[in-house]
Amino acid sequence: MFKALLIDKNDDGLQVGLNEIEESQLPEGDVRVKVLYSTLNYKDGLAITGKAPVVRKFPMVPGIDFAAEVVESNHQAWSVGDKVILNGWGVGESHWGGLAEQARVNGDWLVALPESVSAKQAMSIGTAGYTAMLCVMGLQDQGVKPEDGEIIVTGANGGVGSIATLLLSKLGYTVVASTGRLEETDYLKSLGATEVIHRDEFSSPGKPLARERWAGAVDSVGSHTLANVCASTRYGGVVTACGLAQGMDFPATVAPFILRGVRLIGIDSVNAPLEKRIEAWTQLANLLDMDKLAENTREITLNDCVEVATDLLAGKVRGRVVVDCTA
Ligand code: NAP
Repeated sequence: MFKALLIDKNDDGLQVGLNEIEESQLPEGDVRVKVLYSTLNYKDGLAITGKAPVVRKFPMVPGIDFAAEVVESNHQAWSVGDKVILNGWGVGESHWGGLAEQARVNGDWLVALPESVSAKQAMSIGTAGYTAMLCVMGLQDQGVKPEDGEIIVTGANGGVGSIATLLLSKLGYTVVASTGRLEETDYLKSLGATEVIHRDEFSSPGKPLARERWAGAVDSVGSHTLANVCASTRYGGVVTACGLAQGMDFPATVAPFILRGVRLIGIDSVNAPLEKRIEAWTQLANLLDMDKLAENTREITLNDCVEVATDLLAGKVRGRVVVDCTA
């Protein structure tokens, strides 16, 4: 028996709580792991509170990522004792996830935990950090260089935005952070932002084209924000889009794309190919200042997840939340 956060649905609505689970109830997979750490992502908040239909079948153990140790393996790549990371692949949505003491998954979904990174550090990076790295790689792949000019990061106090700010500044880019929480200006500057602006500049309907400012962008907000970021991106600039914190809509015109050659690059972390994942985790291990990340990481246990998920969706959580699944 082991403990897992379980979401179920019946006529009374959503039931969420810690349950005792038999190993035999675990879903199919060729690798069984002891989960060491998981984290609370925005998507986990949506799943736990039921605010959006993230869970595609019930009952479901939420948790879209984990760092774990292999305890049983029928997969050629993995042996008992290996330390592994999992992000995405529908885990925590259609396959039982990481907010539990154990999980069973497809071994093809796993990436080796980099040697210099602990399980807790990996989850303080989490899917948010790994997605931030994919966005930065999206800019790099499109040839955006530090000397090209300013990079705007939207939702800068969020998980993706804060780690994108750290990574870009470490790589020598000039980062302008956009946020609704100007009171966190010192924090964002400590992450490496050179300027902090209010998100209101982007959040309402704007013009098809605005003054050209950004060489590149990391947007985790979507909606009008993404449209206005595209409209103010310089000729030939690159916008990476990974999120929808303001909304899923994209009320834009084609003007930035056909008149300024702006490139809009979509970033998906859930089904990203293995080579990209390995590259992302290798770069994260090399680039991130783990002490700085630790300062902005709060540790909770499986017992606390429901309460903290509610705070997360209410925008009351700053930095990263890791879940010690062994506590
Ligand atoms: P998060 O920690 O909750 O951060 C979201 C941030 O967006 C907030 O901190 C806030 O930043 C900003 N924001 C929230 N509501 C807003 C609004 N109405 N208008 C403008 N800005 C708003 O979430 P996260 O983990 O960073 O994820 C961010 C987004 O990326 C989510 O939509 C998530 O689903 C998505 N995501 C996608 C992938 C992928 O594979 N594509 C992977 C991970 C996450 P400020 O307080 O600084 O304003």
